[in-house]
Amino acid sequence: MSERRTIDSVLSKSTMTGPGDKFDYRPTAVMPDVKVVKIGGQSILDRGRAALFPILDEVVAARKLGIQVVLLCGGGTRARHIYSIASELEMPTGVVATLGKYIPMQNARMVQMLLAKHGGIYMLPDDFEKLPLYLQMGCIPVMSGMPPFGYWEKREEGSRIPPHRTDAGVFLSAEFLGSKRAIFIKDEDGLYTDDPKKNPAATHIPRITAKDLQARVLPDVVVERVVIEYLPRAQWCKELQIVNGLKPGQVLAALKGEDVGTIISA
Ligand code: ADP
Ligand code: MG
Repeated sequence: MSERRTIDSVLSKSTMTGPGDKFDYRPTAVMPDVKVVKIGGQSILDRGRAALFPILDEVVAARKLGIQVVLLCGGGTRARHIYSIASELEMPTGVVATLGKYIPMQNARMVQMLLAKHGGIYMLPDDFEKLPLYLQMGCIPVMSGMPPFGYWEKREEGSRIPPHRTDAGVFLSAEFLGSKRAIFIKDEDGLYTDDPKKNPAATHIPRITAKDLQARVLPDVVVERVVIEYLPRAQWCKELQIVNGLKPGQVLAALKGEDVGTIISA
C-alpha cells in the first residue's frame, strides 16, 4: 500500500468506528506508575490550611517513600462564582469553561508554593512530556485539574456549565498517563447513597461498578457524572478512588495503594 493510501485508510470511517470493526485500540501506557491525585477545590482547598496542610504532609511522606505523585487542583467556590455570573450573563459554555480554568490554576500555584521546599513544581497540561524528568528528580508536579477544552468545550443539554471540570480532567489525565486508578481527595469517606451533607440517612458505599452506580440513579454523586459515564470506556484508568482528606492517614493509605474510601470500578 502506498504511503498515501495508508494515511487515507487511517482516516476512513470504516477503520475508526462501527460495530464489529477489527480496530484494536491499544494505546501506550505512558507513565503507569504515577499516582494521579486530585485535591478537591470546595471540599479541601477552600477550607484552608486546617484541611490542606495535613494532606500535603502525607503527599510529601509518600514522595519520600518513592511513590510518584502528580497533584491536580480543583476550583471550588470561586469557580462556581464565575460559572454563576457568566451563566446569568448568557455566556456560551466555551466561554464559561475558559473563565473557569483560571481558578484551579490559582489553586495549583498556591499548592506549588506550599510544596516548593519539597520539590513542588507547577506544570501546564502541555508539559506532560516533562513529567519523567520531574519525577526522576523527586519533584511533586502540581497542575490545574481543568481539562484544556476551553472555548471548544461541549454543551450539555439543559445547562451552560462545562460538563468536563476538574474531576473529568483528573480522570482524563490518569487515562492518558496509563494510571489504573485516579484518586480524588475530598471531604467525605467516599460515595454515599445521597449527599451526606444534606441527607443524614445516606449510607456509605465502599465499592461499586460504574454500571451499578448508573443503574441506582442516585440523587447526587461525589464526582462529576461524566467521569462515571466515561469509566467503562477507559483503556487504563479502570478505577476511581474517593478518599476523605480530613481524616488523618487516608491520603497516605490511598497513595500506598490501599482500598480506603470508595472504589468505583469500570
Ligand atoms: P471537589 O471539592 O473535589 O470539587 P465537590 O465539593 O464538588 O468536590 O464534591 C464533593 C461533595 O459532593 C461532598 O462534599 C458531598 O457533600 C457531595 N456529594 C454529593 N452527592 C454525594 C454522594 N452521593 N456521596 C458523597 N458525597 C456526595
Ligand atoms: Mg466538584
